[in-house]
Amino acid sequence: MSYVWTLAEQSHGRLRDVSFELLSRGRILADKLDTKLCSLLLSSGLADETLRELIHRGADEVYMVDDPRLDKFVVETHSNVLADLVRRYKPHTILAAATSTGRTLMPHVAIKVTAGLTADCTELDIEEGTRLLLQTRPAIGGNIMATIKSPHHWPQMATVRPKSSRPLALDTTRVGNITRIAMQDVHHDARVKVLGLRPYEEGLAGIEEADVVVAGGKGMKKADNFSMLRDLAKQLGGVIGGTRDAVDRGWLSYPHQIGLSGKTISPKLYMCAGVSGSIQHLAGIKTSEYIVAINQDPDANIFQVADFGIVGNLFEVVPLINAKLEAYKKEDK
Ligand SMILES: Cc1cc2nc3c(=O)[nH]c(=O)nc-3n(C[C@H](O)[C@H](O)[C@H](O)COP(=O)(O)OP(=O)(O)OC[C@H]3O[C@@H](n4cnc5c(N)ncnc54)[C@H](O)[C@@H]3O)c2cc1C
Repeated sequence: MSYVWTLAEQSHGRLRDVSFELLSRGRILADKLDTKLCSLLLSSGLADETLRELIHRGADEVYMVDDPRLDKFVVETHSNVLADLVRRYKPHTILAAATSTGRTLMPHVAIKVTAGLTADCTELDIEEGTRLLLQTRPAIGGNIMATIKSPHHWPQMATVRPKSSRPLALDTTRVGNITRIAMQDVHHDARVKVLGLRPYEEGLAGIEEADVVVAGGKGMKKADNFSMLRDLAKQLGGVIGGTRDAVDRGWLSYPHQIGLSGKTISPKLYMCAGVSGSIQHLAGIKTSEYIVAINQDPDANIFQVADFGIVGNLFEVVPLINAKLEAYKKEDK
């Protein structure tokens, strides 16, 4: 019986949220296929109690290839290990997150095991009869959704946009095995050495995980004007993001870009100013809990998705909001 695998990721000894998001996708697929859902982690040193959360979030089994040589992500080594597991255990499907790790690792593995791979999927399903994975993703600049099948090669492989699904609720009554697998020396590619890691510039590491994101678009007019959005983000305990237009103009760096060709975010609050709400930008914010938009054009598309809309000149509205928040804070003290 071939299983559904999802690839877990960790950072500084903590499982990343994408690990749980993938399990909610994988659970549906495994149930449709009437098979097991396994979560796989290639790393070292994570305790069973940490790994158990994967079972509490939907996995039937957890496999960890546990070796200090897997601590730092080196695609040559990681793909050797994963490709070997695929050849040995023949999973039906492997899902990884479309993070920089997943996006780098999965093509290497797909080539090594001669399988197809669909990147950046937003929907997944199983086709009745054929049991093929139906892999849906935006195509042609986000104007259509394409469903892709890979009928001739196995396993079925896809990467899934982070934040495009929510993790399952924690169920501490779920039980399952945690198995540690030793890494084989032959899979270690000693040609590549990680000499060090440089942290992201301030605030960026968290944009996909932030509870509050404040974004600006072309309506901000110039880079310096982002200081008022930075103040707003600071007041709300959030981080800064922007549209592709803002990034293309050099007002923000690329890791700040939100949308189809940038990050997908799912904050509790997404607040934006001078953003029109193009289909490509909306692709990156649609799972936000609350969307608040400031735009001077009452017909701007962003108001179609906003929970709260402020029609007005952002250069008047944003400083007003900042002043109000400042005043509230002073009253609170
Ligand atoms: C393949 C492809 C991928 C893409 N990927 C992305 C992506 O990942 N992310 C992304 O964002 N875009 C992406 N785009 C670009 C996208 O199509 C839009 O061009 C872009 O999102 C528009 O950015 P914007 O809202 O900043 O600018 P605009 O659409 O020009 O909107 C500016 C808005 O500011 C408002 N405004 C102006 N002055 C003021 C003021 N003083 N006060 C209040 N409001 C004001 C205007 O009314 C307007 O609505 C992609 C496009 C393609 C073709």
